Amino acid sequence: MSAPTAHSPGPADHGAPTTAPDTSHHDVVIVGAGLSGIGAAYRLQESHPQRSYTILEGRQAIGGTWDLFRYPGVRSDSDMFTLGYPFRPWRTPTAIASGPEIRDYIRDTAHEHGIDRRIEFGTKVVAAQWDSTVQRWTLATEVTDAEGESARHTPTYVVSQPAEDVVVRELQRRLPAMAASRLARAKSVAMNSTLYQLSRRRPGLVKRILRAGNVEGLGDERLVDEHFTPRYNPWDQRLCLIPGGDLYEAITSGRAQVVTDTIDRFVPEGIRTSSGQIIEADIVVTATGLEMLALGGVDVSVDGQPVDLAHSFVYRGMMLSGVPNAAMCVGYTNASWTLRADLASRYVCRLLAYMDRHGYAVAVPTPSGRMEERPLLPLDAGYVHRAEGAFPKQGTRAPWQMHQNYARDLVMMRTADVGAGMAFAPPRHTA
Ligand SMILES: Cc1cc2nc3c(=O)[nH]c(=O)nc-3n(C[C@H](O)[C@H](O)[C@H](O)COP(=O)(O)OP(=O)(O)OC[C@H]3O[C@@H](n4cnc5c(N)ncnc54)[C@H](O)[C@@H]3O)c2cc1C
Repeated sequence: MSAPTAHSPGPADHGAPTTAPDTSHHDVVIVGAGLSGIGAAYRLQESHPQRSYTILEGRQAIGGTWDLFRYPGVRSDSDMFTLGYPFRPWRTPTAIASGPEIRDYIRDTAHEHGIDRRIEFGTKVVAAQWDSTVQRWTLATEVTDAEGESARHTPTYVVSQPAEDVVVRELQRRLPAMAASRLARAKSVAMNSTLYQLSRRRPGLVKRILRAGNVEGLGDERLVDEHFTPRYNPWDQRLCLIPGGDLYEAITSGRAQVVTDTIDRFVPEGIRTSSGQIIEADIVVTATGLEMLALGGVDVSVDGQPVDLAHSFVYRGMMLSGVPNAAMCVGYTNASWTLRADLASRYVCRLLAYMDRHGYAVAVPTPSGRMEERPLLPLDAGYVHRAEGAFPKQGTRAPWQMHQNYARDLVMMRTADVGAGMAFAPPRHTA
């Protein structure tokens, strides 16, 4: 799920054990050329143009999730006014974009800002070792050319919204692109967080609203009760957006059929369910859940000691306790990924500027006193529970908490004291 983004103020090495060692040095290394990595590169070159950086990407393409997932109909369920970058407006009033459209948007952004020239493709980071004596990271990489495959989770609560946002269309028609983009983003954040808060506080009411929308779209209460009424409350897991009610249309026209059951076994005709029903199928796509991988599977160690992620605390949801000069991008579970990833990248740039001003070479998040552990992500979804043991935790007080609240983070990430909870060290002068 998350693109680990390793920023390394101070020189970093990365060697490739499968080929001749590459001993190049960079001020900052970004791992991953997905939505987060490209955004992080933009923020870095915007506010620290003097710093050298490279992006190491394990695959052969830009886009991460949005390049990897290619099944027919793949699309976001967040609107592009918030999933898009704040610095590059999404210029059409179509809020929900297809996977290929999102991939093209990320690629075009990378190209437009010269970021694509900084990417080393087919370079997977397998280990990152911090050495306090030289105050730098050394990354071990593997040359890759294989491509992975995966599949999407099944829909949960579904909610229809118009394919085209008429308010945004008018904003885009009347205002300069950047101003329209800001207003579209603010509108989307306000509406989404209102729905989220209402779901948390009045789940019964939101269930009734969602059900009414489904019944109107499908015209069949029995169908809604059987297939679109999960046992959990709205926003215990992510909501699934259907633009222009296209899923309703596919079902009511007979082009698609929904079956809710467990699979007993595969049979020559297709699938046999536990209730004995045979579902004929030419192709079966297994979409039985994602396995989240913390930090892209990189083995992280500090001065020879492996970092135990499961017992590390996140610092403002983007650094790890005891791990110097490294940050990661973790998005929101209740809003667009980019909203949080972009705040994290900007915060790292602030931290770098602070270190420059004070002549520091090292910044290590350092908790003081004991703290209770809380799960990192507050979702009741299978993929979150499966990964809990391998993911860092959040604490019970600032700056060791990770909020799922963009408005709050927007203020915190811009104004919070970057020195709070952080231990700094000046450069060591080694001969
Ligand atoms: C099916 C699906 C639907 C989704 N829908 C939405 C949605 O509607 N809204 C939303 O906000 N979010 C959604 N998400 C979450 C989605 O992951 C984010 O939108 C966003 O794409 C995350 O970007 P990223 O760059 O952080 O990670 P990724 O897109 O995962 O990109 C990470 C990149 O890093 C590379 N990488 C990883 N490990 C290493 C390594 N060790 N060395 C080198 N390179 C490495 C990968 O190859 C990849 O290119 C969805 C995710 C999935 C899987």
